[in-house]
Amino acid sequence: MSSITIPFPDDWHVHLRDGDMLDAVVGYTARRFRYSMVMPNVVPPITSTAEAEKYRDRILASTPDDAVDFRPVMALYCSPDIDLADLRAGIDSGVVAAVKYYPAGATTNSESGGTSLLAFRDLFEVLADTDTRLLVHAEATDPAIDIFDREAAFLEDQLAPLCEAMPELLVTVEHVSTRAGVDFVATHPQCAATVTPHHLARERSDLLADGMRPDLYCKPVINSSDDQAALIDAATSGDPAFMLGTDSAPHPTTAKYGPKAKAGVFNAAYGLEVVADVFRNHGALDQLGAFVSSNGCAVYGVDAPEATLELSHEPVDRDLATDLSTSSGDSVVLFGTEEASQWTVTVHN
Ligand SMILES: [Zn+2]
Repeated sequence: MSSITIPFPDDWHVHLRDGDMLDAVVGYTARRFRYSMVMPNVVPPITSTAEAEKYRDRILASTPDDAVDFRPVMALYCSPDIDLADLRAGIDSGVVAAVKYYPAGATTNSESGGTSLLAFRDLFEVLADTDTRLLVHAEATDPAIDIFDREAAFLEDQLAPLCEAMPELLVTVEHVSTRAGVDFVATHPQCAATVTPHHLARERSDLLADGMRPDLYCKPVINSSDDQAALIDAATSGDPAFMLGTDSAPHPTTAKYGPKAKAGVFNAAYGLEVVADVFRNHGALDQLGAFVSSNGCAVYGVDAPEATLELSHEPVDRDLATDLSTSSGDSVVLFGTEEASQWTVTVHN
């Protein structure tokens, strides 16, 4: 099978940034995805319902007219600044869809993050009470722990005790990147996980072996081929706990190719083709719709989409863009051009 029609996809983890970067990137998400869980790590981080609502308004104001059925949903940044009454009101009014925990210092704009999950137990009780998911960037920040072991360490040291203490709390392990992460989700029924296109399609030799590739550098870092195999097995298995979250995260090339590359892969443009390519190579195109749509709809309790999207494994007969430009003159490298050149995508609306 090399052509498939799937329910119109959702993206349960995306960074849309703000200002001219938001203007430049939001269309890529809005043309390809319906529900999009927007990460709150802008500057300053989104920690109140009012800020979330204003950010959503800025996103919608920047959304181009050819969006298909774009529905940004907002997460608050887990911080002592969150007022619990405001959180509850934001959830009740439908503005706040989730709360995202960042370990302090783990990734882009995470300086305001936490050092201990259990320190936020009062906040998590509001989430558990309202069936609202806690989204977790699962990465230890102890410099003594090897960079490739940090997801496993965080899960064992931080998330396992929380899950044990609060079995009623619903958790999404974001951008799961290791076999240890897949196993953790599989053995903790209160957990689901997002998986990114780049963690499915690449492994660390792609990042490091043939010239260091800042465009593939992200957090958590792309890990070993064995970890990649575990992610592919989970994503293609039909297991409803695993769903697409692109973690599309644009940075200007000046920040990606400077002395310290910023972590993030911009994959909103071609991430779907990259995922389709992985599924096709593993003879699992029939599971693509579950991974990019129905699993996430069930996890987040939203209706199935009306639109569909057709992916055909046919070379595109034009040159695809390899980067985009913002109005202030920055450019961003697009991930997945090679895969995208082999797939023709048609939206049926
Ligand atoms: Zn992210």
